[in-house]
Amino acid sequence: MRFSNLLFNSLKESPKEAKIVSHQLMLRSSMIQQHTSGIYTWLPLGFKVLKNIEEIVRSNQDQIGCNEMLMSTIQSSDLWTKSGRYADYGKEMLRIKDRHDNELLYGPTNEEVITDLFSNYVNSYKGLPKYVYHIQWKFRDEIRPRFGVMRGREFLMKDAYSFDLDHDKAVKTYQTFFMCYLKTFKELGLQPIPVKAATGAIGGDLSHEFQILAKTGESELAYDPELVSQDLLEKSFDEITSMYSASDEMIDKSKSNVVIGRGIEVGHIFNFGTKYSEPLECYVLNNEGKKVTPYMGSYGIGVSRLTAAIIEAFHDDKGIKWPFNISPFKINIISSNDKFIDIAGELYDTLSKKYINISFDDRDLSLGRKIKDSELIGIPWSLIIGKNFDEKNEFEVINRSSGEKFFVNKQELENFQFEQYTP
Ligand code: ATP
Ligand code: MG
Repeated sequence: MRFSNLLFNSLKESPKEAKIVSHQLMLRSSMIQQHTSGIYTWLPLGFKVLKNIEEIVRSNQDQIGCNEMLMSTIQSSDLWTKSGRYADYGKEMLRIKDRHDNELLYGPTNEEVITDLFSNYVNSYKGLPKYVYHIQWKFRDEIRPRFGVMRGREFLMKDAYSFDLDHDKAVKTYQTFFMCYLKTFKELGLQPIPVKAATGAIGGDLSHEFQILAKTGESELAYDPELVSQDLLEKSFDEITSMYSASDEMIDKSKSNVVIGRGIEVGHIFNFGTKYSEPLECYVLNNEGKKVTPYMGSYGIGVSRLTAAIIEAFHDDKGIKWPFNISPFKINIISSNDKFIDIAGELYDTLSKKYINISFDDRDLSLGRKIKDSELIGIPWSLIIGKNFDEKNEFEVINRSSGEKFFVNKQELENFQFEQYTP
């Protein structure tokens, strides 16, 4: 992408309404724009980031045999009346009436719809287990939308649902999703703390939240320090969940040897048995031909919230520092003045054949301004054609995270390893 074609306009100052660094940086770098309270437009740069995160989440779901599909955002109220949640969900649910006076709603979550759908496609124990997911926009009329996309009203969620024959099998499935979440977050460059959670409106007996440590996090956490110092993927579910962690009112104040911090909830998983399959009359036939109610779980990841959570984890006073695989562009070519525009253009064409998502800042602006924008946006590598090229035929390569600079000639540039790092 050439910057001359990019819908982008950097802001030097933070807009007053933005209270936390991720919100400030997302506005300053034209990633998002607020449309109305808690509802955002994803501008080209932000949308690229969102899709990159989505792709990592997607590939990890696919790896555990979870089926991707897409349910509608607008739901009929009928199933919610049956499950008993239509009244319970309260003011967070956006309720809509169509022209025939039918009661509809903008889905805040999909347990009812998927349970009903499942009954139509699986009717024998032989069809179990089944896992399905979608990555879909949700609406919750949050009382206090804030911190940008961190707590929006419209937000993108990956929600998966599982169906098993009995409780023990459902617990195994829950453990599979739990480990899959740790792997997903690791690929996003994050190490979340799994916290045993209250089950809230979704219900059930086993539930964990995945919390990213951040000063600006909305939840208070208390946890065993080993949960952040060790690679949890080398441990078993039982080992991990035997370590202490709790959030907010669940914190045991008498506990010693724990660390207190704040966290951003980026995922939440639930094992809730037959809470929805029972009232929605969902069943399969077991090996004796008897009707049995499947045991279910649901598994959410806040995809749009993750864009902000990752910025909270990776930034400095100059701007964002994206992990390589999440960054909207991987290498940004910058020419210091018009003299080098053709050489820069050629370089852009050659590198674009080798790497995907290269950008070229071809705007008629000062070198300083272009470097500042590259740092603000958080592109992992900058490649500058300037003074050194004039004097010594050398290109300057800068690592956004470490600030390290390399001076290379054309030949060396061809072999340069643009390392795919996590800051
Ligand atoms: P929270 O406690 O933050 O209000 P929740 O417990 O209501 O979230 P879940 O129903 O568990 O949310 O939804 C799954 C995931 O969706 C959450 O872990 C979070 O990452 C994300 N999420 C929930 N609400 C919002 C929101 N208003 N804006 C952005 N992401 C959200
Ligand atoms: Mg939650």
